[in-house]
Amino acid sequence: MSAQVIATLIGLFVLTLTVHAVDAADASASGADASSLYGKAEVTKFKGGRLAAFCMQFDDSMDCQAEFAIPEMNKRGLVGTFFINPGLDRYQRHKEVWEAVCPKYGHELADHTMHHKGAKDDEEADYEIGECARYIWGLYPGKSKLRPFLSGGGTTWNVTRERRGELADKYFLFSGFTGPGRVSCADERGTGRAVVYAEKALEEGVWGQVGFHGVGEGWIVTSREHFLELLDYLAANRDEIWVATTGDVFKYTQERDAVTSVSLSDATETSLKVSVECAESKVKTYGQPFAALYDEPLTVRVGVPASWARFTVSQGAGRTVTYDTVEVDGKRYAQFDVRPNVGPALVALAEQGR
Ligand SMILES: [Zn+2]
Repeated sequence: MSAQVIATLIGLFVLTLTVHAVDAADASASGADASSLYGKAEVTKFKGGRLAAFCMQFDDSMDCQAEFAIPEMNKRGLVGTFFINPGLDRYQRHKEVWEAVCPKYGHELADHTMHHKGAKDDEEADYEIGECARYIWGLYPGKSKLRPFLSGGGTTWNVTRERRGELADKYFLFSGFTGPGRVSCADERGTGRAVVYAEKALEEGVWGQVGFHGVGEGWIVTSREHFLELLDYLAANRDEIWVATTGDVFKYTQERDAVTSVSLSDATETSLKVSVECAESKVKTYGQPFAALYDEPLTVRVGVPASWARFTVSQGAGRTVTYDTVEVDGKRYAQFDVRPNVGPALVALAEQGR
């Protein structure tokens, strides 16, 4: 069979499953009326129903990032993606910031190779890329191993492009330029006003991404003033802009675009189950189970009775989360996070009001 025929067959199979899931949801609702209490469920474009997404990337594990950028981000509850080189002195100088502070505050560490020097042969390439990946995995136990990768500007790789691709696959890496790509931010390139890229992402309702090197000092420098202007803007607009790590937005958008069904089942007047299914064939799984790498919850929005004020959501062994309902265009919705492909989430009324 050709790959195309197989793809078509998989597509048909998924379609059949989807239709079947919807039938099952209707059939299992207690009576015709319970399921009609709830509107159509859908996955929002970005996390939490926000209008845009924005990522800040930082290369080379520079001193100014550990000493200035990270504390300023932490003060405002903002996260970023840091492409690190664990084999370099400048990384070791701030080891505690990279290894304790970053995971604690939700920052992402990403593979920029051990020494930022490329590789003279295949063996060294495997070590430079693979050891950095293993190093980072060790700092995030139990988390997805899927991470962004940048091989380092100005480095020489004495291995073929194809071989580098194989190594990226071996260590579950995707390009750090994925998605919207990124604007390399620096005062010497344009105005240095990083905030304009965040404003643009919000205006267009898209995923935006900037890449920094030095902040206030070092190389390819963005001034502190311009950096803080961006942070203050993002903090002030956090309800509309999803400020997240590259890995989280990458996973969210990959999963979102692979969704085949959002189905409701076991509906009663005070509870329902919601399942989100993604087609594994639509994402790169690196030979792993889908949910092992794609662990970012998707935000589901479903219409609920006007009397619902608060509700809880629990899924599998995960903790139970309480949410307030939201009003959109005069209608009441439950909006909550669900992990795809790991079974249904139970949504239950916690408090009526109004
Ligand atoms: Zn670099």
